[in-house]
Amino acid sequence: MAEKTLFEKIIDGEIPGDFVHKDDICVAIKDIAPKAPIHYLIIPRKPIPGVHDIQEEDWPTVTHLFKVAKQLAEKEGCEGYRLQFNVGEKGGQIVPHLHLHLMGWK
Ligand code: 5GP
Repeated sequence: MAEKTLFEKIIDGEIPGDFVHKDDICVAIKDIAPKAPIHYLIIPRKPIPGVHDIQEEDWPTVTHLFKVAKQLAEKEGCEGYRLQFNVGEKGGQIVPHLHLHLMGWK
């Protein structure tokens, strides 16, 4: 079996995470090194390595990540926010488990 990603270990409770959302498809945690007043990572439970690896059947999951990001931004009262996928090492991706950054400002 492939070794768990950092985010799988957080999802499974093996590494601590500050959860702000959990459902059957994804979780959201606070980024450990926030780059905005609100900085959450919305992470599918399925360990899709990155945007390059999204398969046809994964698009509903990706749509769900955006829905959760929008809900969290509204819940936090963000006046403006950025949603970002980093893709590949050259694109700044460090953790090879798909995640949507929500960076928000009030
Ligand atoms: P990437 O650069 O892969 O798009 O984003 C990975 C993000 O994960 C970074 O913003 C980084 O600060 C965050 N991160 C790295 N390790 C941990 C951790 O152990 N816990 C949490 N909550 N975030 C982490």
